[in-house]
Amino acid sequence: MHNELLAQLITGGNYISVWKLAAFVGFFCFWAWVGQWMNKDTMVVKTRRTFWNSIYLISGVLVLALGLLLPAPVIVGLGLFLVTWAMATVIYILHRNARVPKNETILTPTHIKWLLSVEDRQRKKHKARLEFISVNDNVLPTPYRDEPEYSGFLSAEELLHDMWKRRVSHAVIIPFGENYQLRYVIDGIASVAGERTHEDATDSIEYLKAVAGLDVQDHRRPQEGSFFTVRTGESDTGWRINTSGSRRGEQLSLEKIEEKKAFTIDGLGLHHDQLEAIQKVIKQEKGIVLVTGMKGSGVSTTVYALVRKHDAFIRNIHTFESEYLMELDNVTQNLTDKGPNAKSTVRQLQSVLHSDPDVILVGFCDSPEMAQIGTKTARMGKKLYFCLPASNCFQALGEWLKLVGDNEKVAESLAAIINQKLVRVLCLECREAYTPDATMLKKLNLPADKIKQFYRPPPEIEYDKRGKPILCENCHGTGYFGRTAVFETMVISDASRKLIAEGATTNVIGTQCRKERMLYLQEQALRKVIDGTTSIQEVLRITQQTPRKVVKRRE
Ligand SMILES: [Zn+2]
Repeated sequence: MHNELLAQLITGGNYISVWKLAAFVGFFCFWAWVGQWMNKDTMVVKTRRTFWNSIYLISGVLVLALGLLLPAPVIVGLGLFLVTWAMATVIYILHRNARVPKNETILTPTHIKWLLSVEDRQRKKHKARLEFISVNDNVLPTPYRDEPEYSGFLSAEELLHDMWKRRVSHAVIIPFGENYQLRYVIDGIASVAGERTHEDATDSIEYLKAVAGLDVQDHRRPQEGSFFTVRTGESDTGWRINTSGSRRGEQLSLEKIEEKKAFTIDGLGLHHDQLEAIQKVIKQEKGIVLVTGMKGSGVSTTVYALVRKHDAFIRNIHTFESEYLMELDNVTQNLTDKGPNAKSTVRQLQSVLHSDPDVILVGFCDSPEMAQIGTKTARMGKKLYFCLPASNCFQALGEWLKLVGDNEKVAESLAAIINQKLVRVLCLECREAYTPDATMLKKLNLPADKIKQFYRPPPEIEYDKRGKPILCENCHGTGYFGRTAVFETMVISDASRKLIAEGATTNVIGTQCRKERMLYLQEQALRKVIDGTTSIQEVLRITQQTPRKVVKRRE
């Protein structure tokens, strides 16, 4: 076939045919060069390589052959070839541009400007979307395209940018088969976020280790450090980095250093009737308030908000905490001493109490003695807030009774128990209203005639013409944006106090509380489904979690 084409091109034997031949060879070389770039690029942008190669080949070879074999002048054949080739190439570029981050798109006005700018092209500098700040506060320069750390920077930058965009609080890259797996935690939910090639993963791990000042050469020993990232015009974000090696490779964990926000109690998510009851409890001069929840359920945010409600100028307020979480104005914050010669936590708590505070926040309770000292202090007219791990108010009460070991003293001093869990808040941009099923409502003990609609995340993902999922720009397809707390509150009434003193079981005390219209956590959470804050699926997820071990005791 080639001979025929060549024969057609050189027939006539005059000098124009030589030009035609040269043009043909020139076009062919350019066509082959673009084809080779496209082949490589399909692998870089992870798209269907065979599919695009075939399209390119057909648009080139077949159309050229067809054009030349048609009974039309050669120039028409070449023209047809050029138009088809250009179309195939443009379609591919549009496809690949849609798959890559903005700064890696090609033939866009910005890219063309970059190509035409001699200075930029010579230095080949990448337009970074964020900057890395080492733990020593040095802003690291963005590497040039020909520098060895460039690929590591690029992978790390893409990772951290994606994590920022999707509000990731914790990411892990772990060896997975031949490649690496990327896992994210968003709004407290862990999920697989995709795969990374071995090269890409190790490049980014190496780069981030260098940023955090870790030993880049050591791939086995567990190492930890921290670094910061900053985007133009925004405050920086701190990341705690952990790496460790195994036989299958090195793994990386990045945890966001969360800044604790100071909440006021009306911003916590308490329902207005709960808020009213809790405000009364805060006003009481003495007594113990147990603030309970499982790990990561926001208990410290709540207890800080409760303590902040006391006037720190008039009252002498102290805290006793194992971890410093937030600064409180005019409050004496005491941290546990963990040194080799540290006194027991009981002795440490006793020395905090020696300075005679009016209000005391005790961030944890690791022994019956601590609970007993707390109870004694409350009976002497002080106000105490104790944090305890528990999955509901009754479990917390049972545990507290066991720790103190004296029902009468508990009855006399306990003012209230608060228990909480975090629910994800539905994304306002994409939540969908629907009519809930009547049987489900009945099961949940909700009036089917009164509830017209619930909200939920979009049940199905939509795809664009190119097969790319269309995700909500606000929540990036999770359907939720942020979290709020749901509370179960139990204010000890005179009737319950009497039952506690008599040694009644938590079941009997529970019946009394229900008589006093106390709602369980699930019922409180359903109020947030009814007002559209969250979904029924989310409430079932948090209320059906299996309770874990209740109180950690020291050996
Ligand atoms: Zn959304």
